[in-house]
Amino acid sequence: MLTGMQIAVIGGDARQLEIIRKLTELDAKISLVGFEQLDHAFTGAVKEKIDEVDFSNMDAILLPVPGTNLEGQVETIFSNEKVYFTEEILQKTPAHCTVYSGITNSYLNGIISKTKRELVQLFERDDVAIYNSIPTVEGTIMMAIQHTDFTIHGSNVAVLGLGRVGMSVARTFHALGAKVKVGARKSEHIARITEMGVEPFHLSEIEKEVRDTDILINTIPYLIVSASVLSKLPVHTLIIDLASKPGGTDFRYAEKRGIKALLAPGLPGIVAPKTAGQILANVLSQLLHDKLDNRKGNAQ
Ligand code: NAP
Repeated sequence: MLTGMQIAVIGGDARQLEIIRKLTELDAKISLVGFEQLDHAFTGAVKEKIDEVDFSNMDAILLPVPGTNLEGQVETIFSNEKVYFTEEILQKTPAHCTVYSGITNSYLNGIISKTKRELVQLFERDDVAIYNSIPTVEGTIMMAIQHTDFTIHGSNVAVLGLGRVGMSVARTFHALGAKVKVGARKSEHIARITEMGVEPFHLSEIEKEVRDTDILINTIPYLIVSASVLSKLPVHTLIIDLASKPGGTDFRYAEKRGIKALLAPGLPGIVAPKTAGQILANVLSQLLHDKLDNRKGNAQ
């Protein structure tokens, strides 16, 4: 239980609702900022404006997945008001107050370091990234079906990168009967790809290896599907680029060659917002439990 914990949830989308549900079930006291248009009420959670919140006893602040924008504004789907998360707000919090977001940026890093608070980026965590790869793969399958006129089964699928997303993508398309090859640059990744029963190739060979690709799925956040790689792809290839913006594809050249290339960010929040929220809620509640246990340990 999180009894006695004070948590501010500032802004966010449908994923945040799962987090609020879980934290109120665990008996935390929640201040909700940026939710005044939400019809639903949660027992133990109070809707407030940001200047009404008492931050002096706040144990944790939860920001939406993107954190803030570069001006400090927080995305608020359930409010028309502009909400800013500022250095002044953080200064009011006790030293042990931790901020949680999905990712960060220079603005958020700046106010965190000036105020010497802790920031936890949930999307940097292996557990969150691996759980999130599940809805990401389901969204990728959805896109592959929507944008091709052939089955995944029997098609030639090239996956670039064997990270948390790449591994799940490769395994699932293999299970669907595609002929999967995976490109990586580390020898341990080549070994793992071999062990998975799919075909490995070294990224230095990418131009040779993609010549017969029907669906190319990129997970590498670096310009890997360059103009010269695109020039070797069959024109019917569908590219699904999962890497974070701006992706790893030369989209301008893809369009010029007539190759359909889709940048597909944020699939978990699109195809399965409830699951995506539950993934964050489960990991967050564990982190908050650990934090509470630590504080109780230190107080004894
Ligand atoms: P990850 O575990 O860090 O994997 C990234 C992969 O890219 C690794 O295999 C890494 O190989 C490779 N890589 C990175 N830089 C490279 C370079 N310069 N040259 C060659 N290979 C390189 O990340 P992840 O969790 O799988 O996520 C992959 C991307 O998808 C990220 O950009 C993430 O933000 C994004 N993502 C998108 C969605 C969506 O809905 N579209 C969902 C989740 C994640 P090495 O180990 O050799 O560096």
